[in-house]
Amino acid sequence: MMTKLKVTMLGTGSPWPDVERSGPAQILWIDDQPILIDCGEKVSYQLSKANIDLASIDYVFLTHLHADHILGYGQFLLGRWFSSRKKLTLIGPKGTKQFHQQILKMYEEDIAYKLSLGRPSEGLLDTNIIEIESSGEIEIDLPKQVKLRTAEMIHSILTYAYRFDTGEQSVVFSGDTAPVDELVKLSLNADTMVVDCCLAPNKIYSENISEERKRIWKELQKEHCDPEQAAKMASQAEAKQLILTHFLPGTLTDITHLLATKHFAGEVIVPADLDEILVPGRKSRESLSNGQLGKKYSRA
Ligand SMILES: [Zn+2]
Ligand SMILES: [Zn+2]
Repeated sequence: MMTKLKVTMLGTGSPWPDVERSGPAQILWIDDQPILIDCGEKVSYQLSKANIDLASIDYVFLTHLHADHILGYGQFLLGRWFSSRKKLTLIGPKGTKQFHQQILKMYEEDIAYKLSLGRPSEGLLDTNIIEIESSGEIEIDLPKQVKLRTAEMIHSILTYAYRFDTGEQSVVFSGDTAPVDELVKLSLNADTMVVDCCLAPNKIYSENISEERKRIWKELQKEHCDPEQAAKMASQAEAKQLILTHFLPGTLTDITHLLATKHFAGEVIVPADLDEILVPGRKSRESLSNGQLGKKYSRA
């Protein structure tokens, strides 16, 4: 039977604390197997709200090690250990191993106490950590036949986008990035692209902003995408569906959607936290011609 993919947007927010949007985190469903992509603030809480048992997650992918994408990892790791003895696999860029070990070190005393009560160390201390060495195909022993490819993005620290491909369906998660041709190449003919849209029109950043905010907004242009840039990449990749995410508080969602649809004829989704989005099937994409790369993006 065909493997079906689905995405649950656990957190569509940014580094800014926001009651409406939790830190960046998504679930990719490979049939009924949830794979966690990034571990933003409140991820365990969002998983509970989405009725996803922490113990059912055996794979976590980190796009990069910025705080907003990993703040929830410690709570997830320790919380999962309460109910699961299964080995966790953590995949991420160079530095992921050290990050995981720092979390264990930080809670060393508490972990030692729990071990002294007789709790087995399995599910915590046996975590399998895979650091990605370069862009390209990577072999991960996922439970289903899923091909995995990565590409390095443009961001202030090492960031990898991930493409999951079942042969029937494919989904790409950009992580944080400025517009980059590598994302277009990675996403050629993808069914779904989940793309950073931190620079969406925003009421906080458009009304009488201070010099400091102006400076920050300008700097952010080098590290993130706006809806038009995200949509142009989706269009060049001939993707079927574009999910925008990583929104700052005050994001104007209607205008964001409108701007993206100017450049991308496929479906544009500006999700809220906990939205579940079905990945379109290959059939509906057959009418599209083969992907041709358009103009090259360069760093702003
Ligand atoms: Zn980042
Ligand atoms: Zn971020």
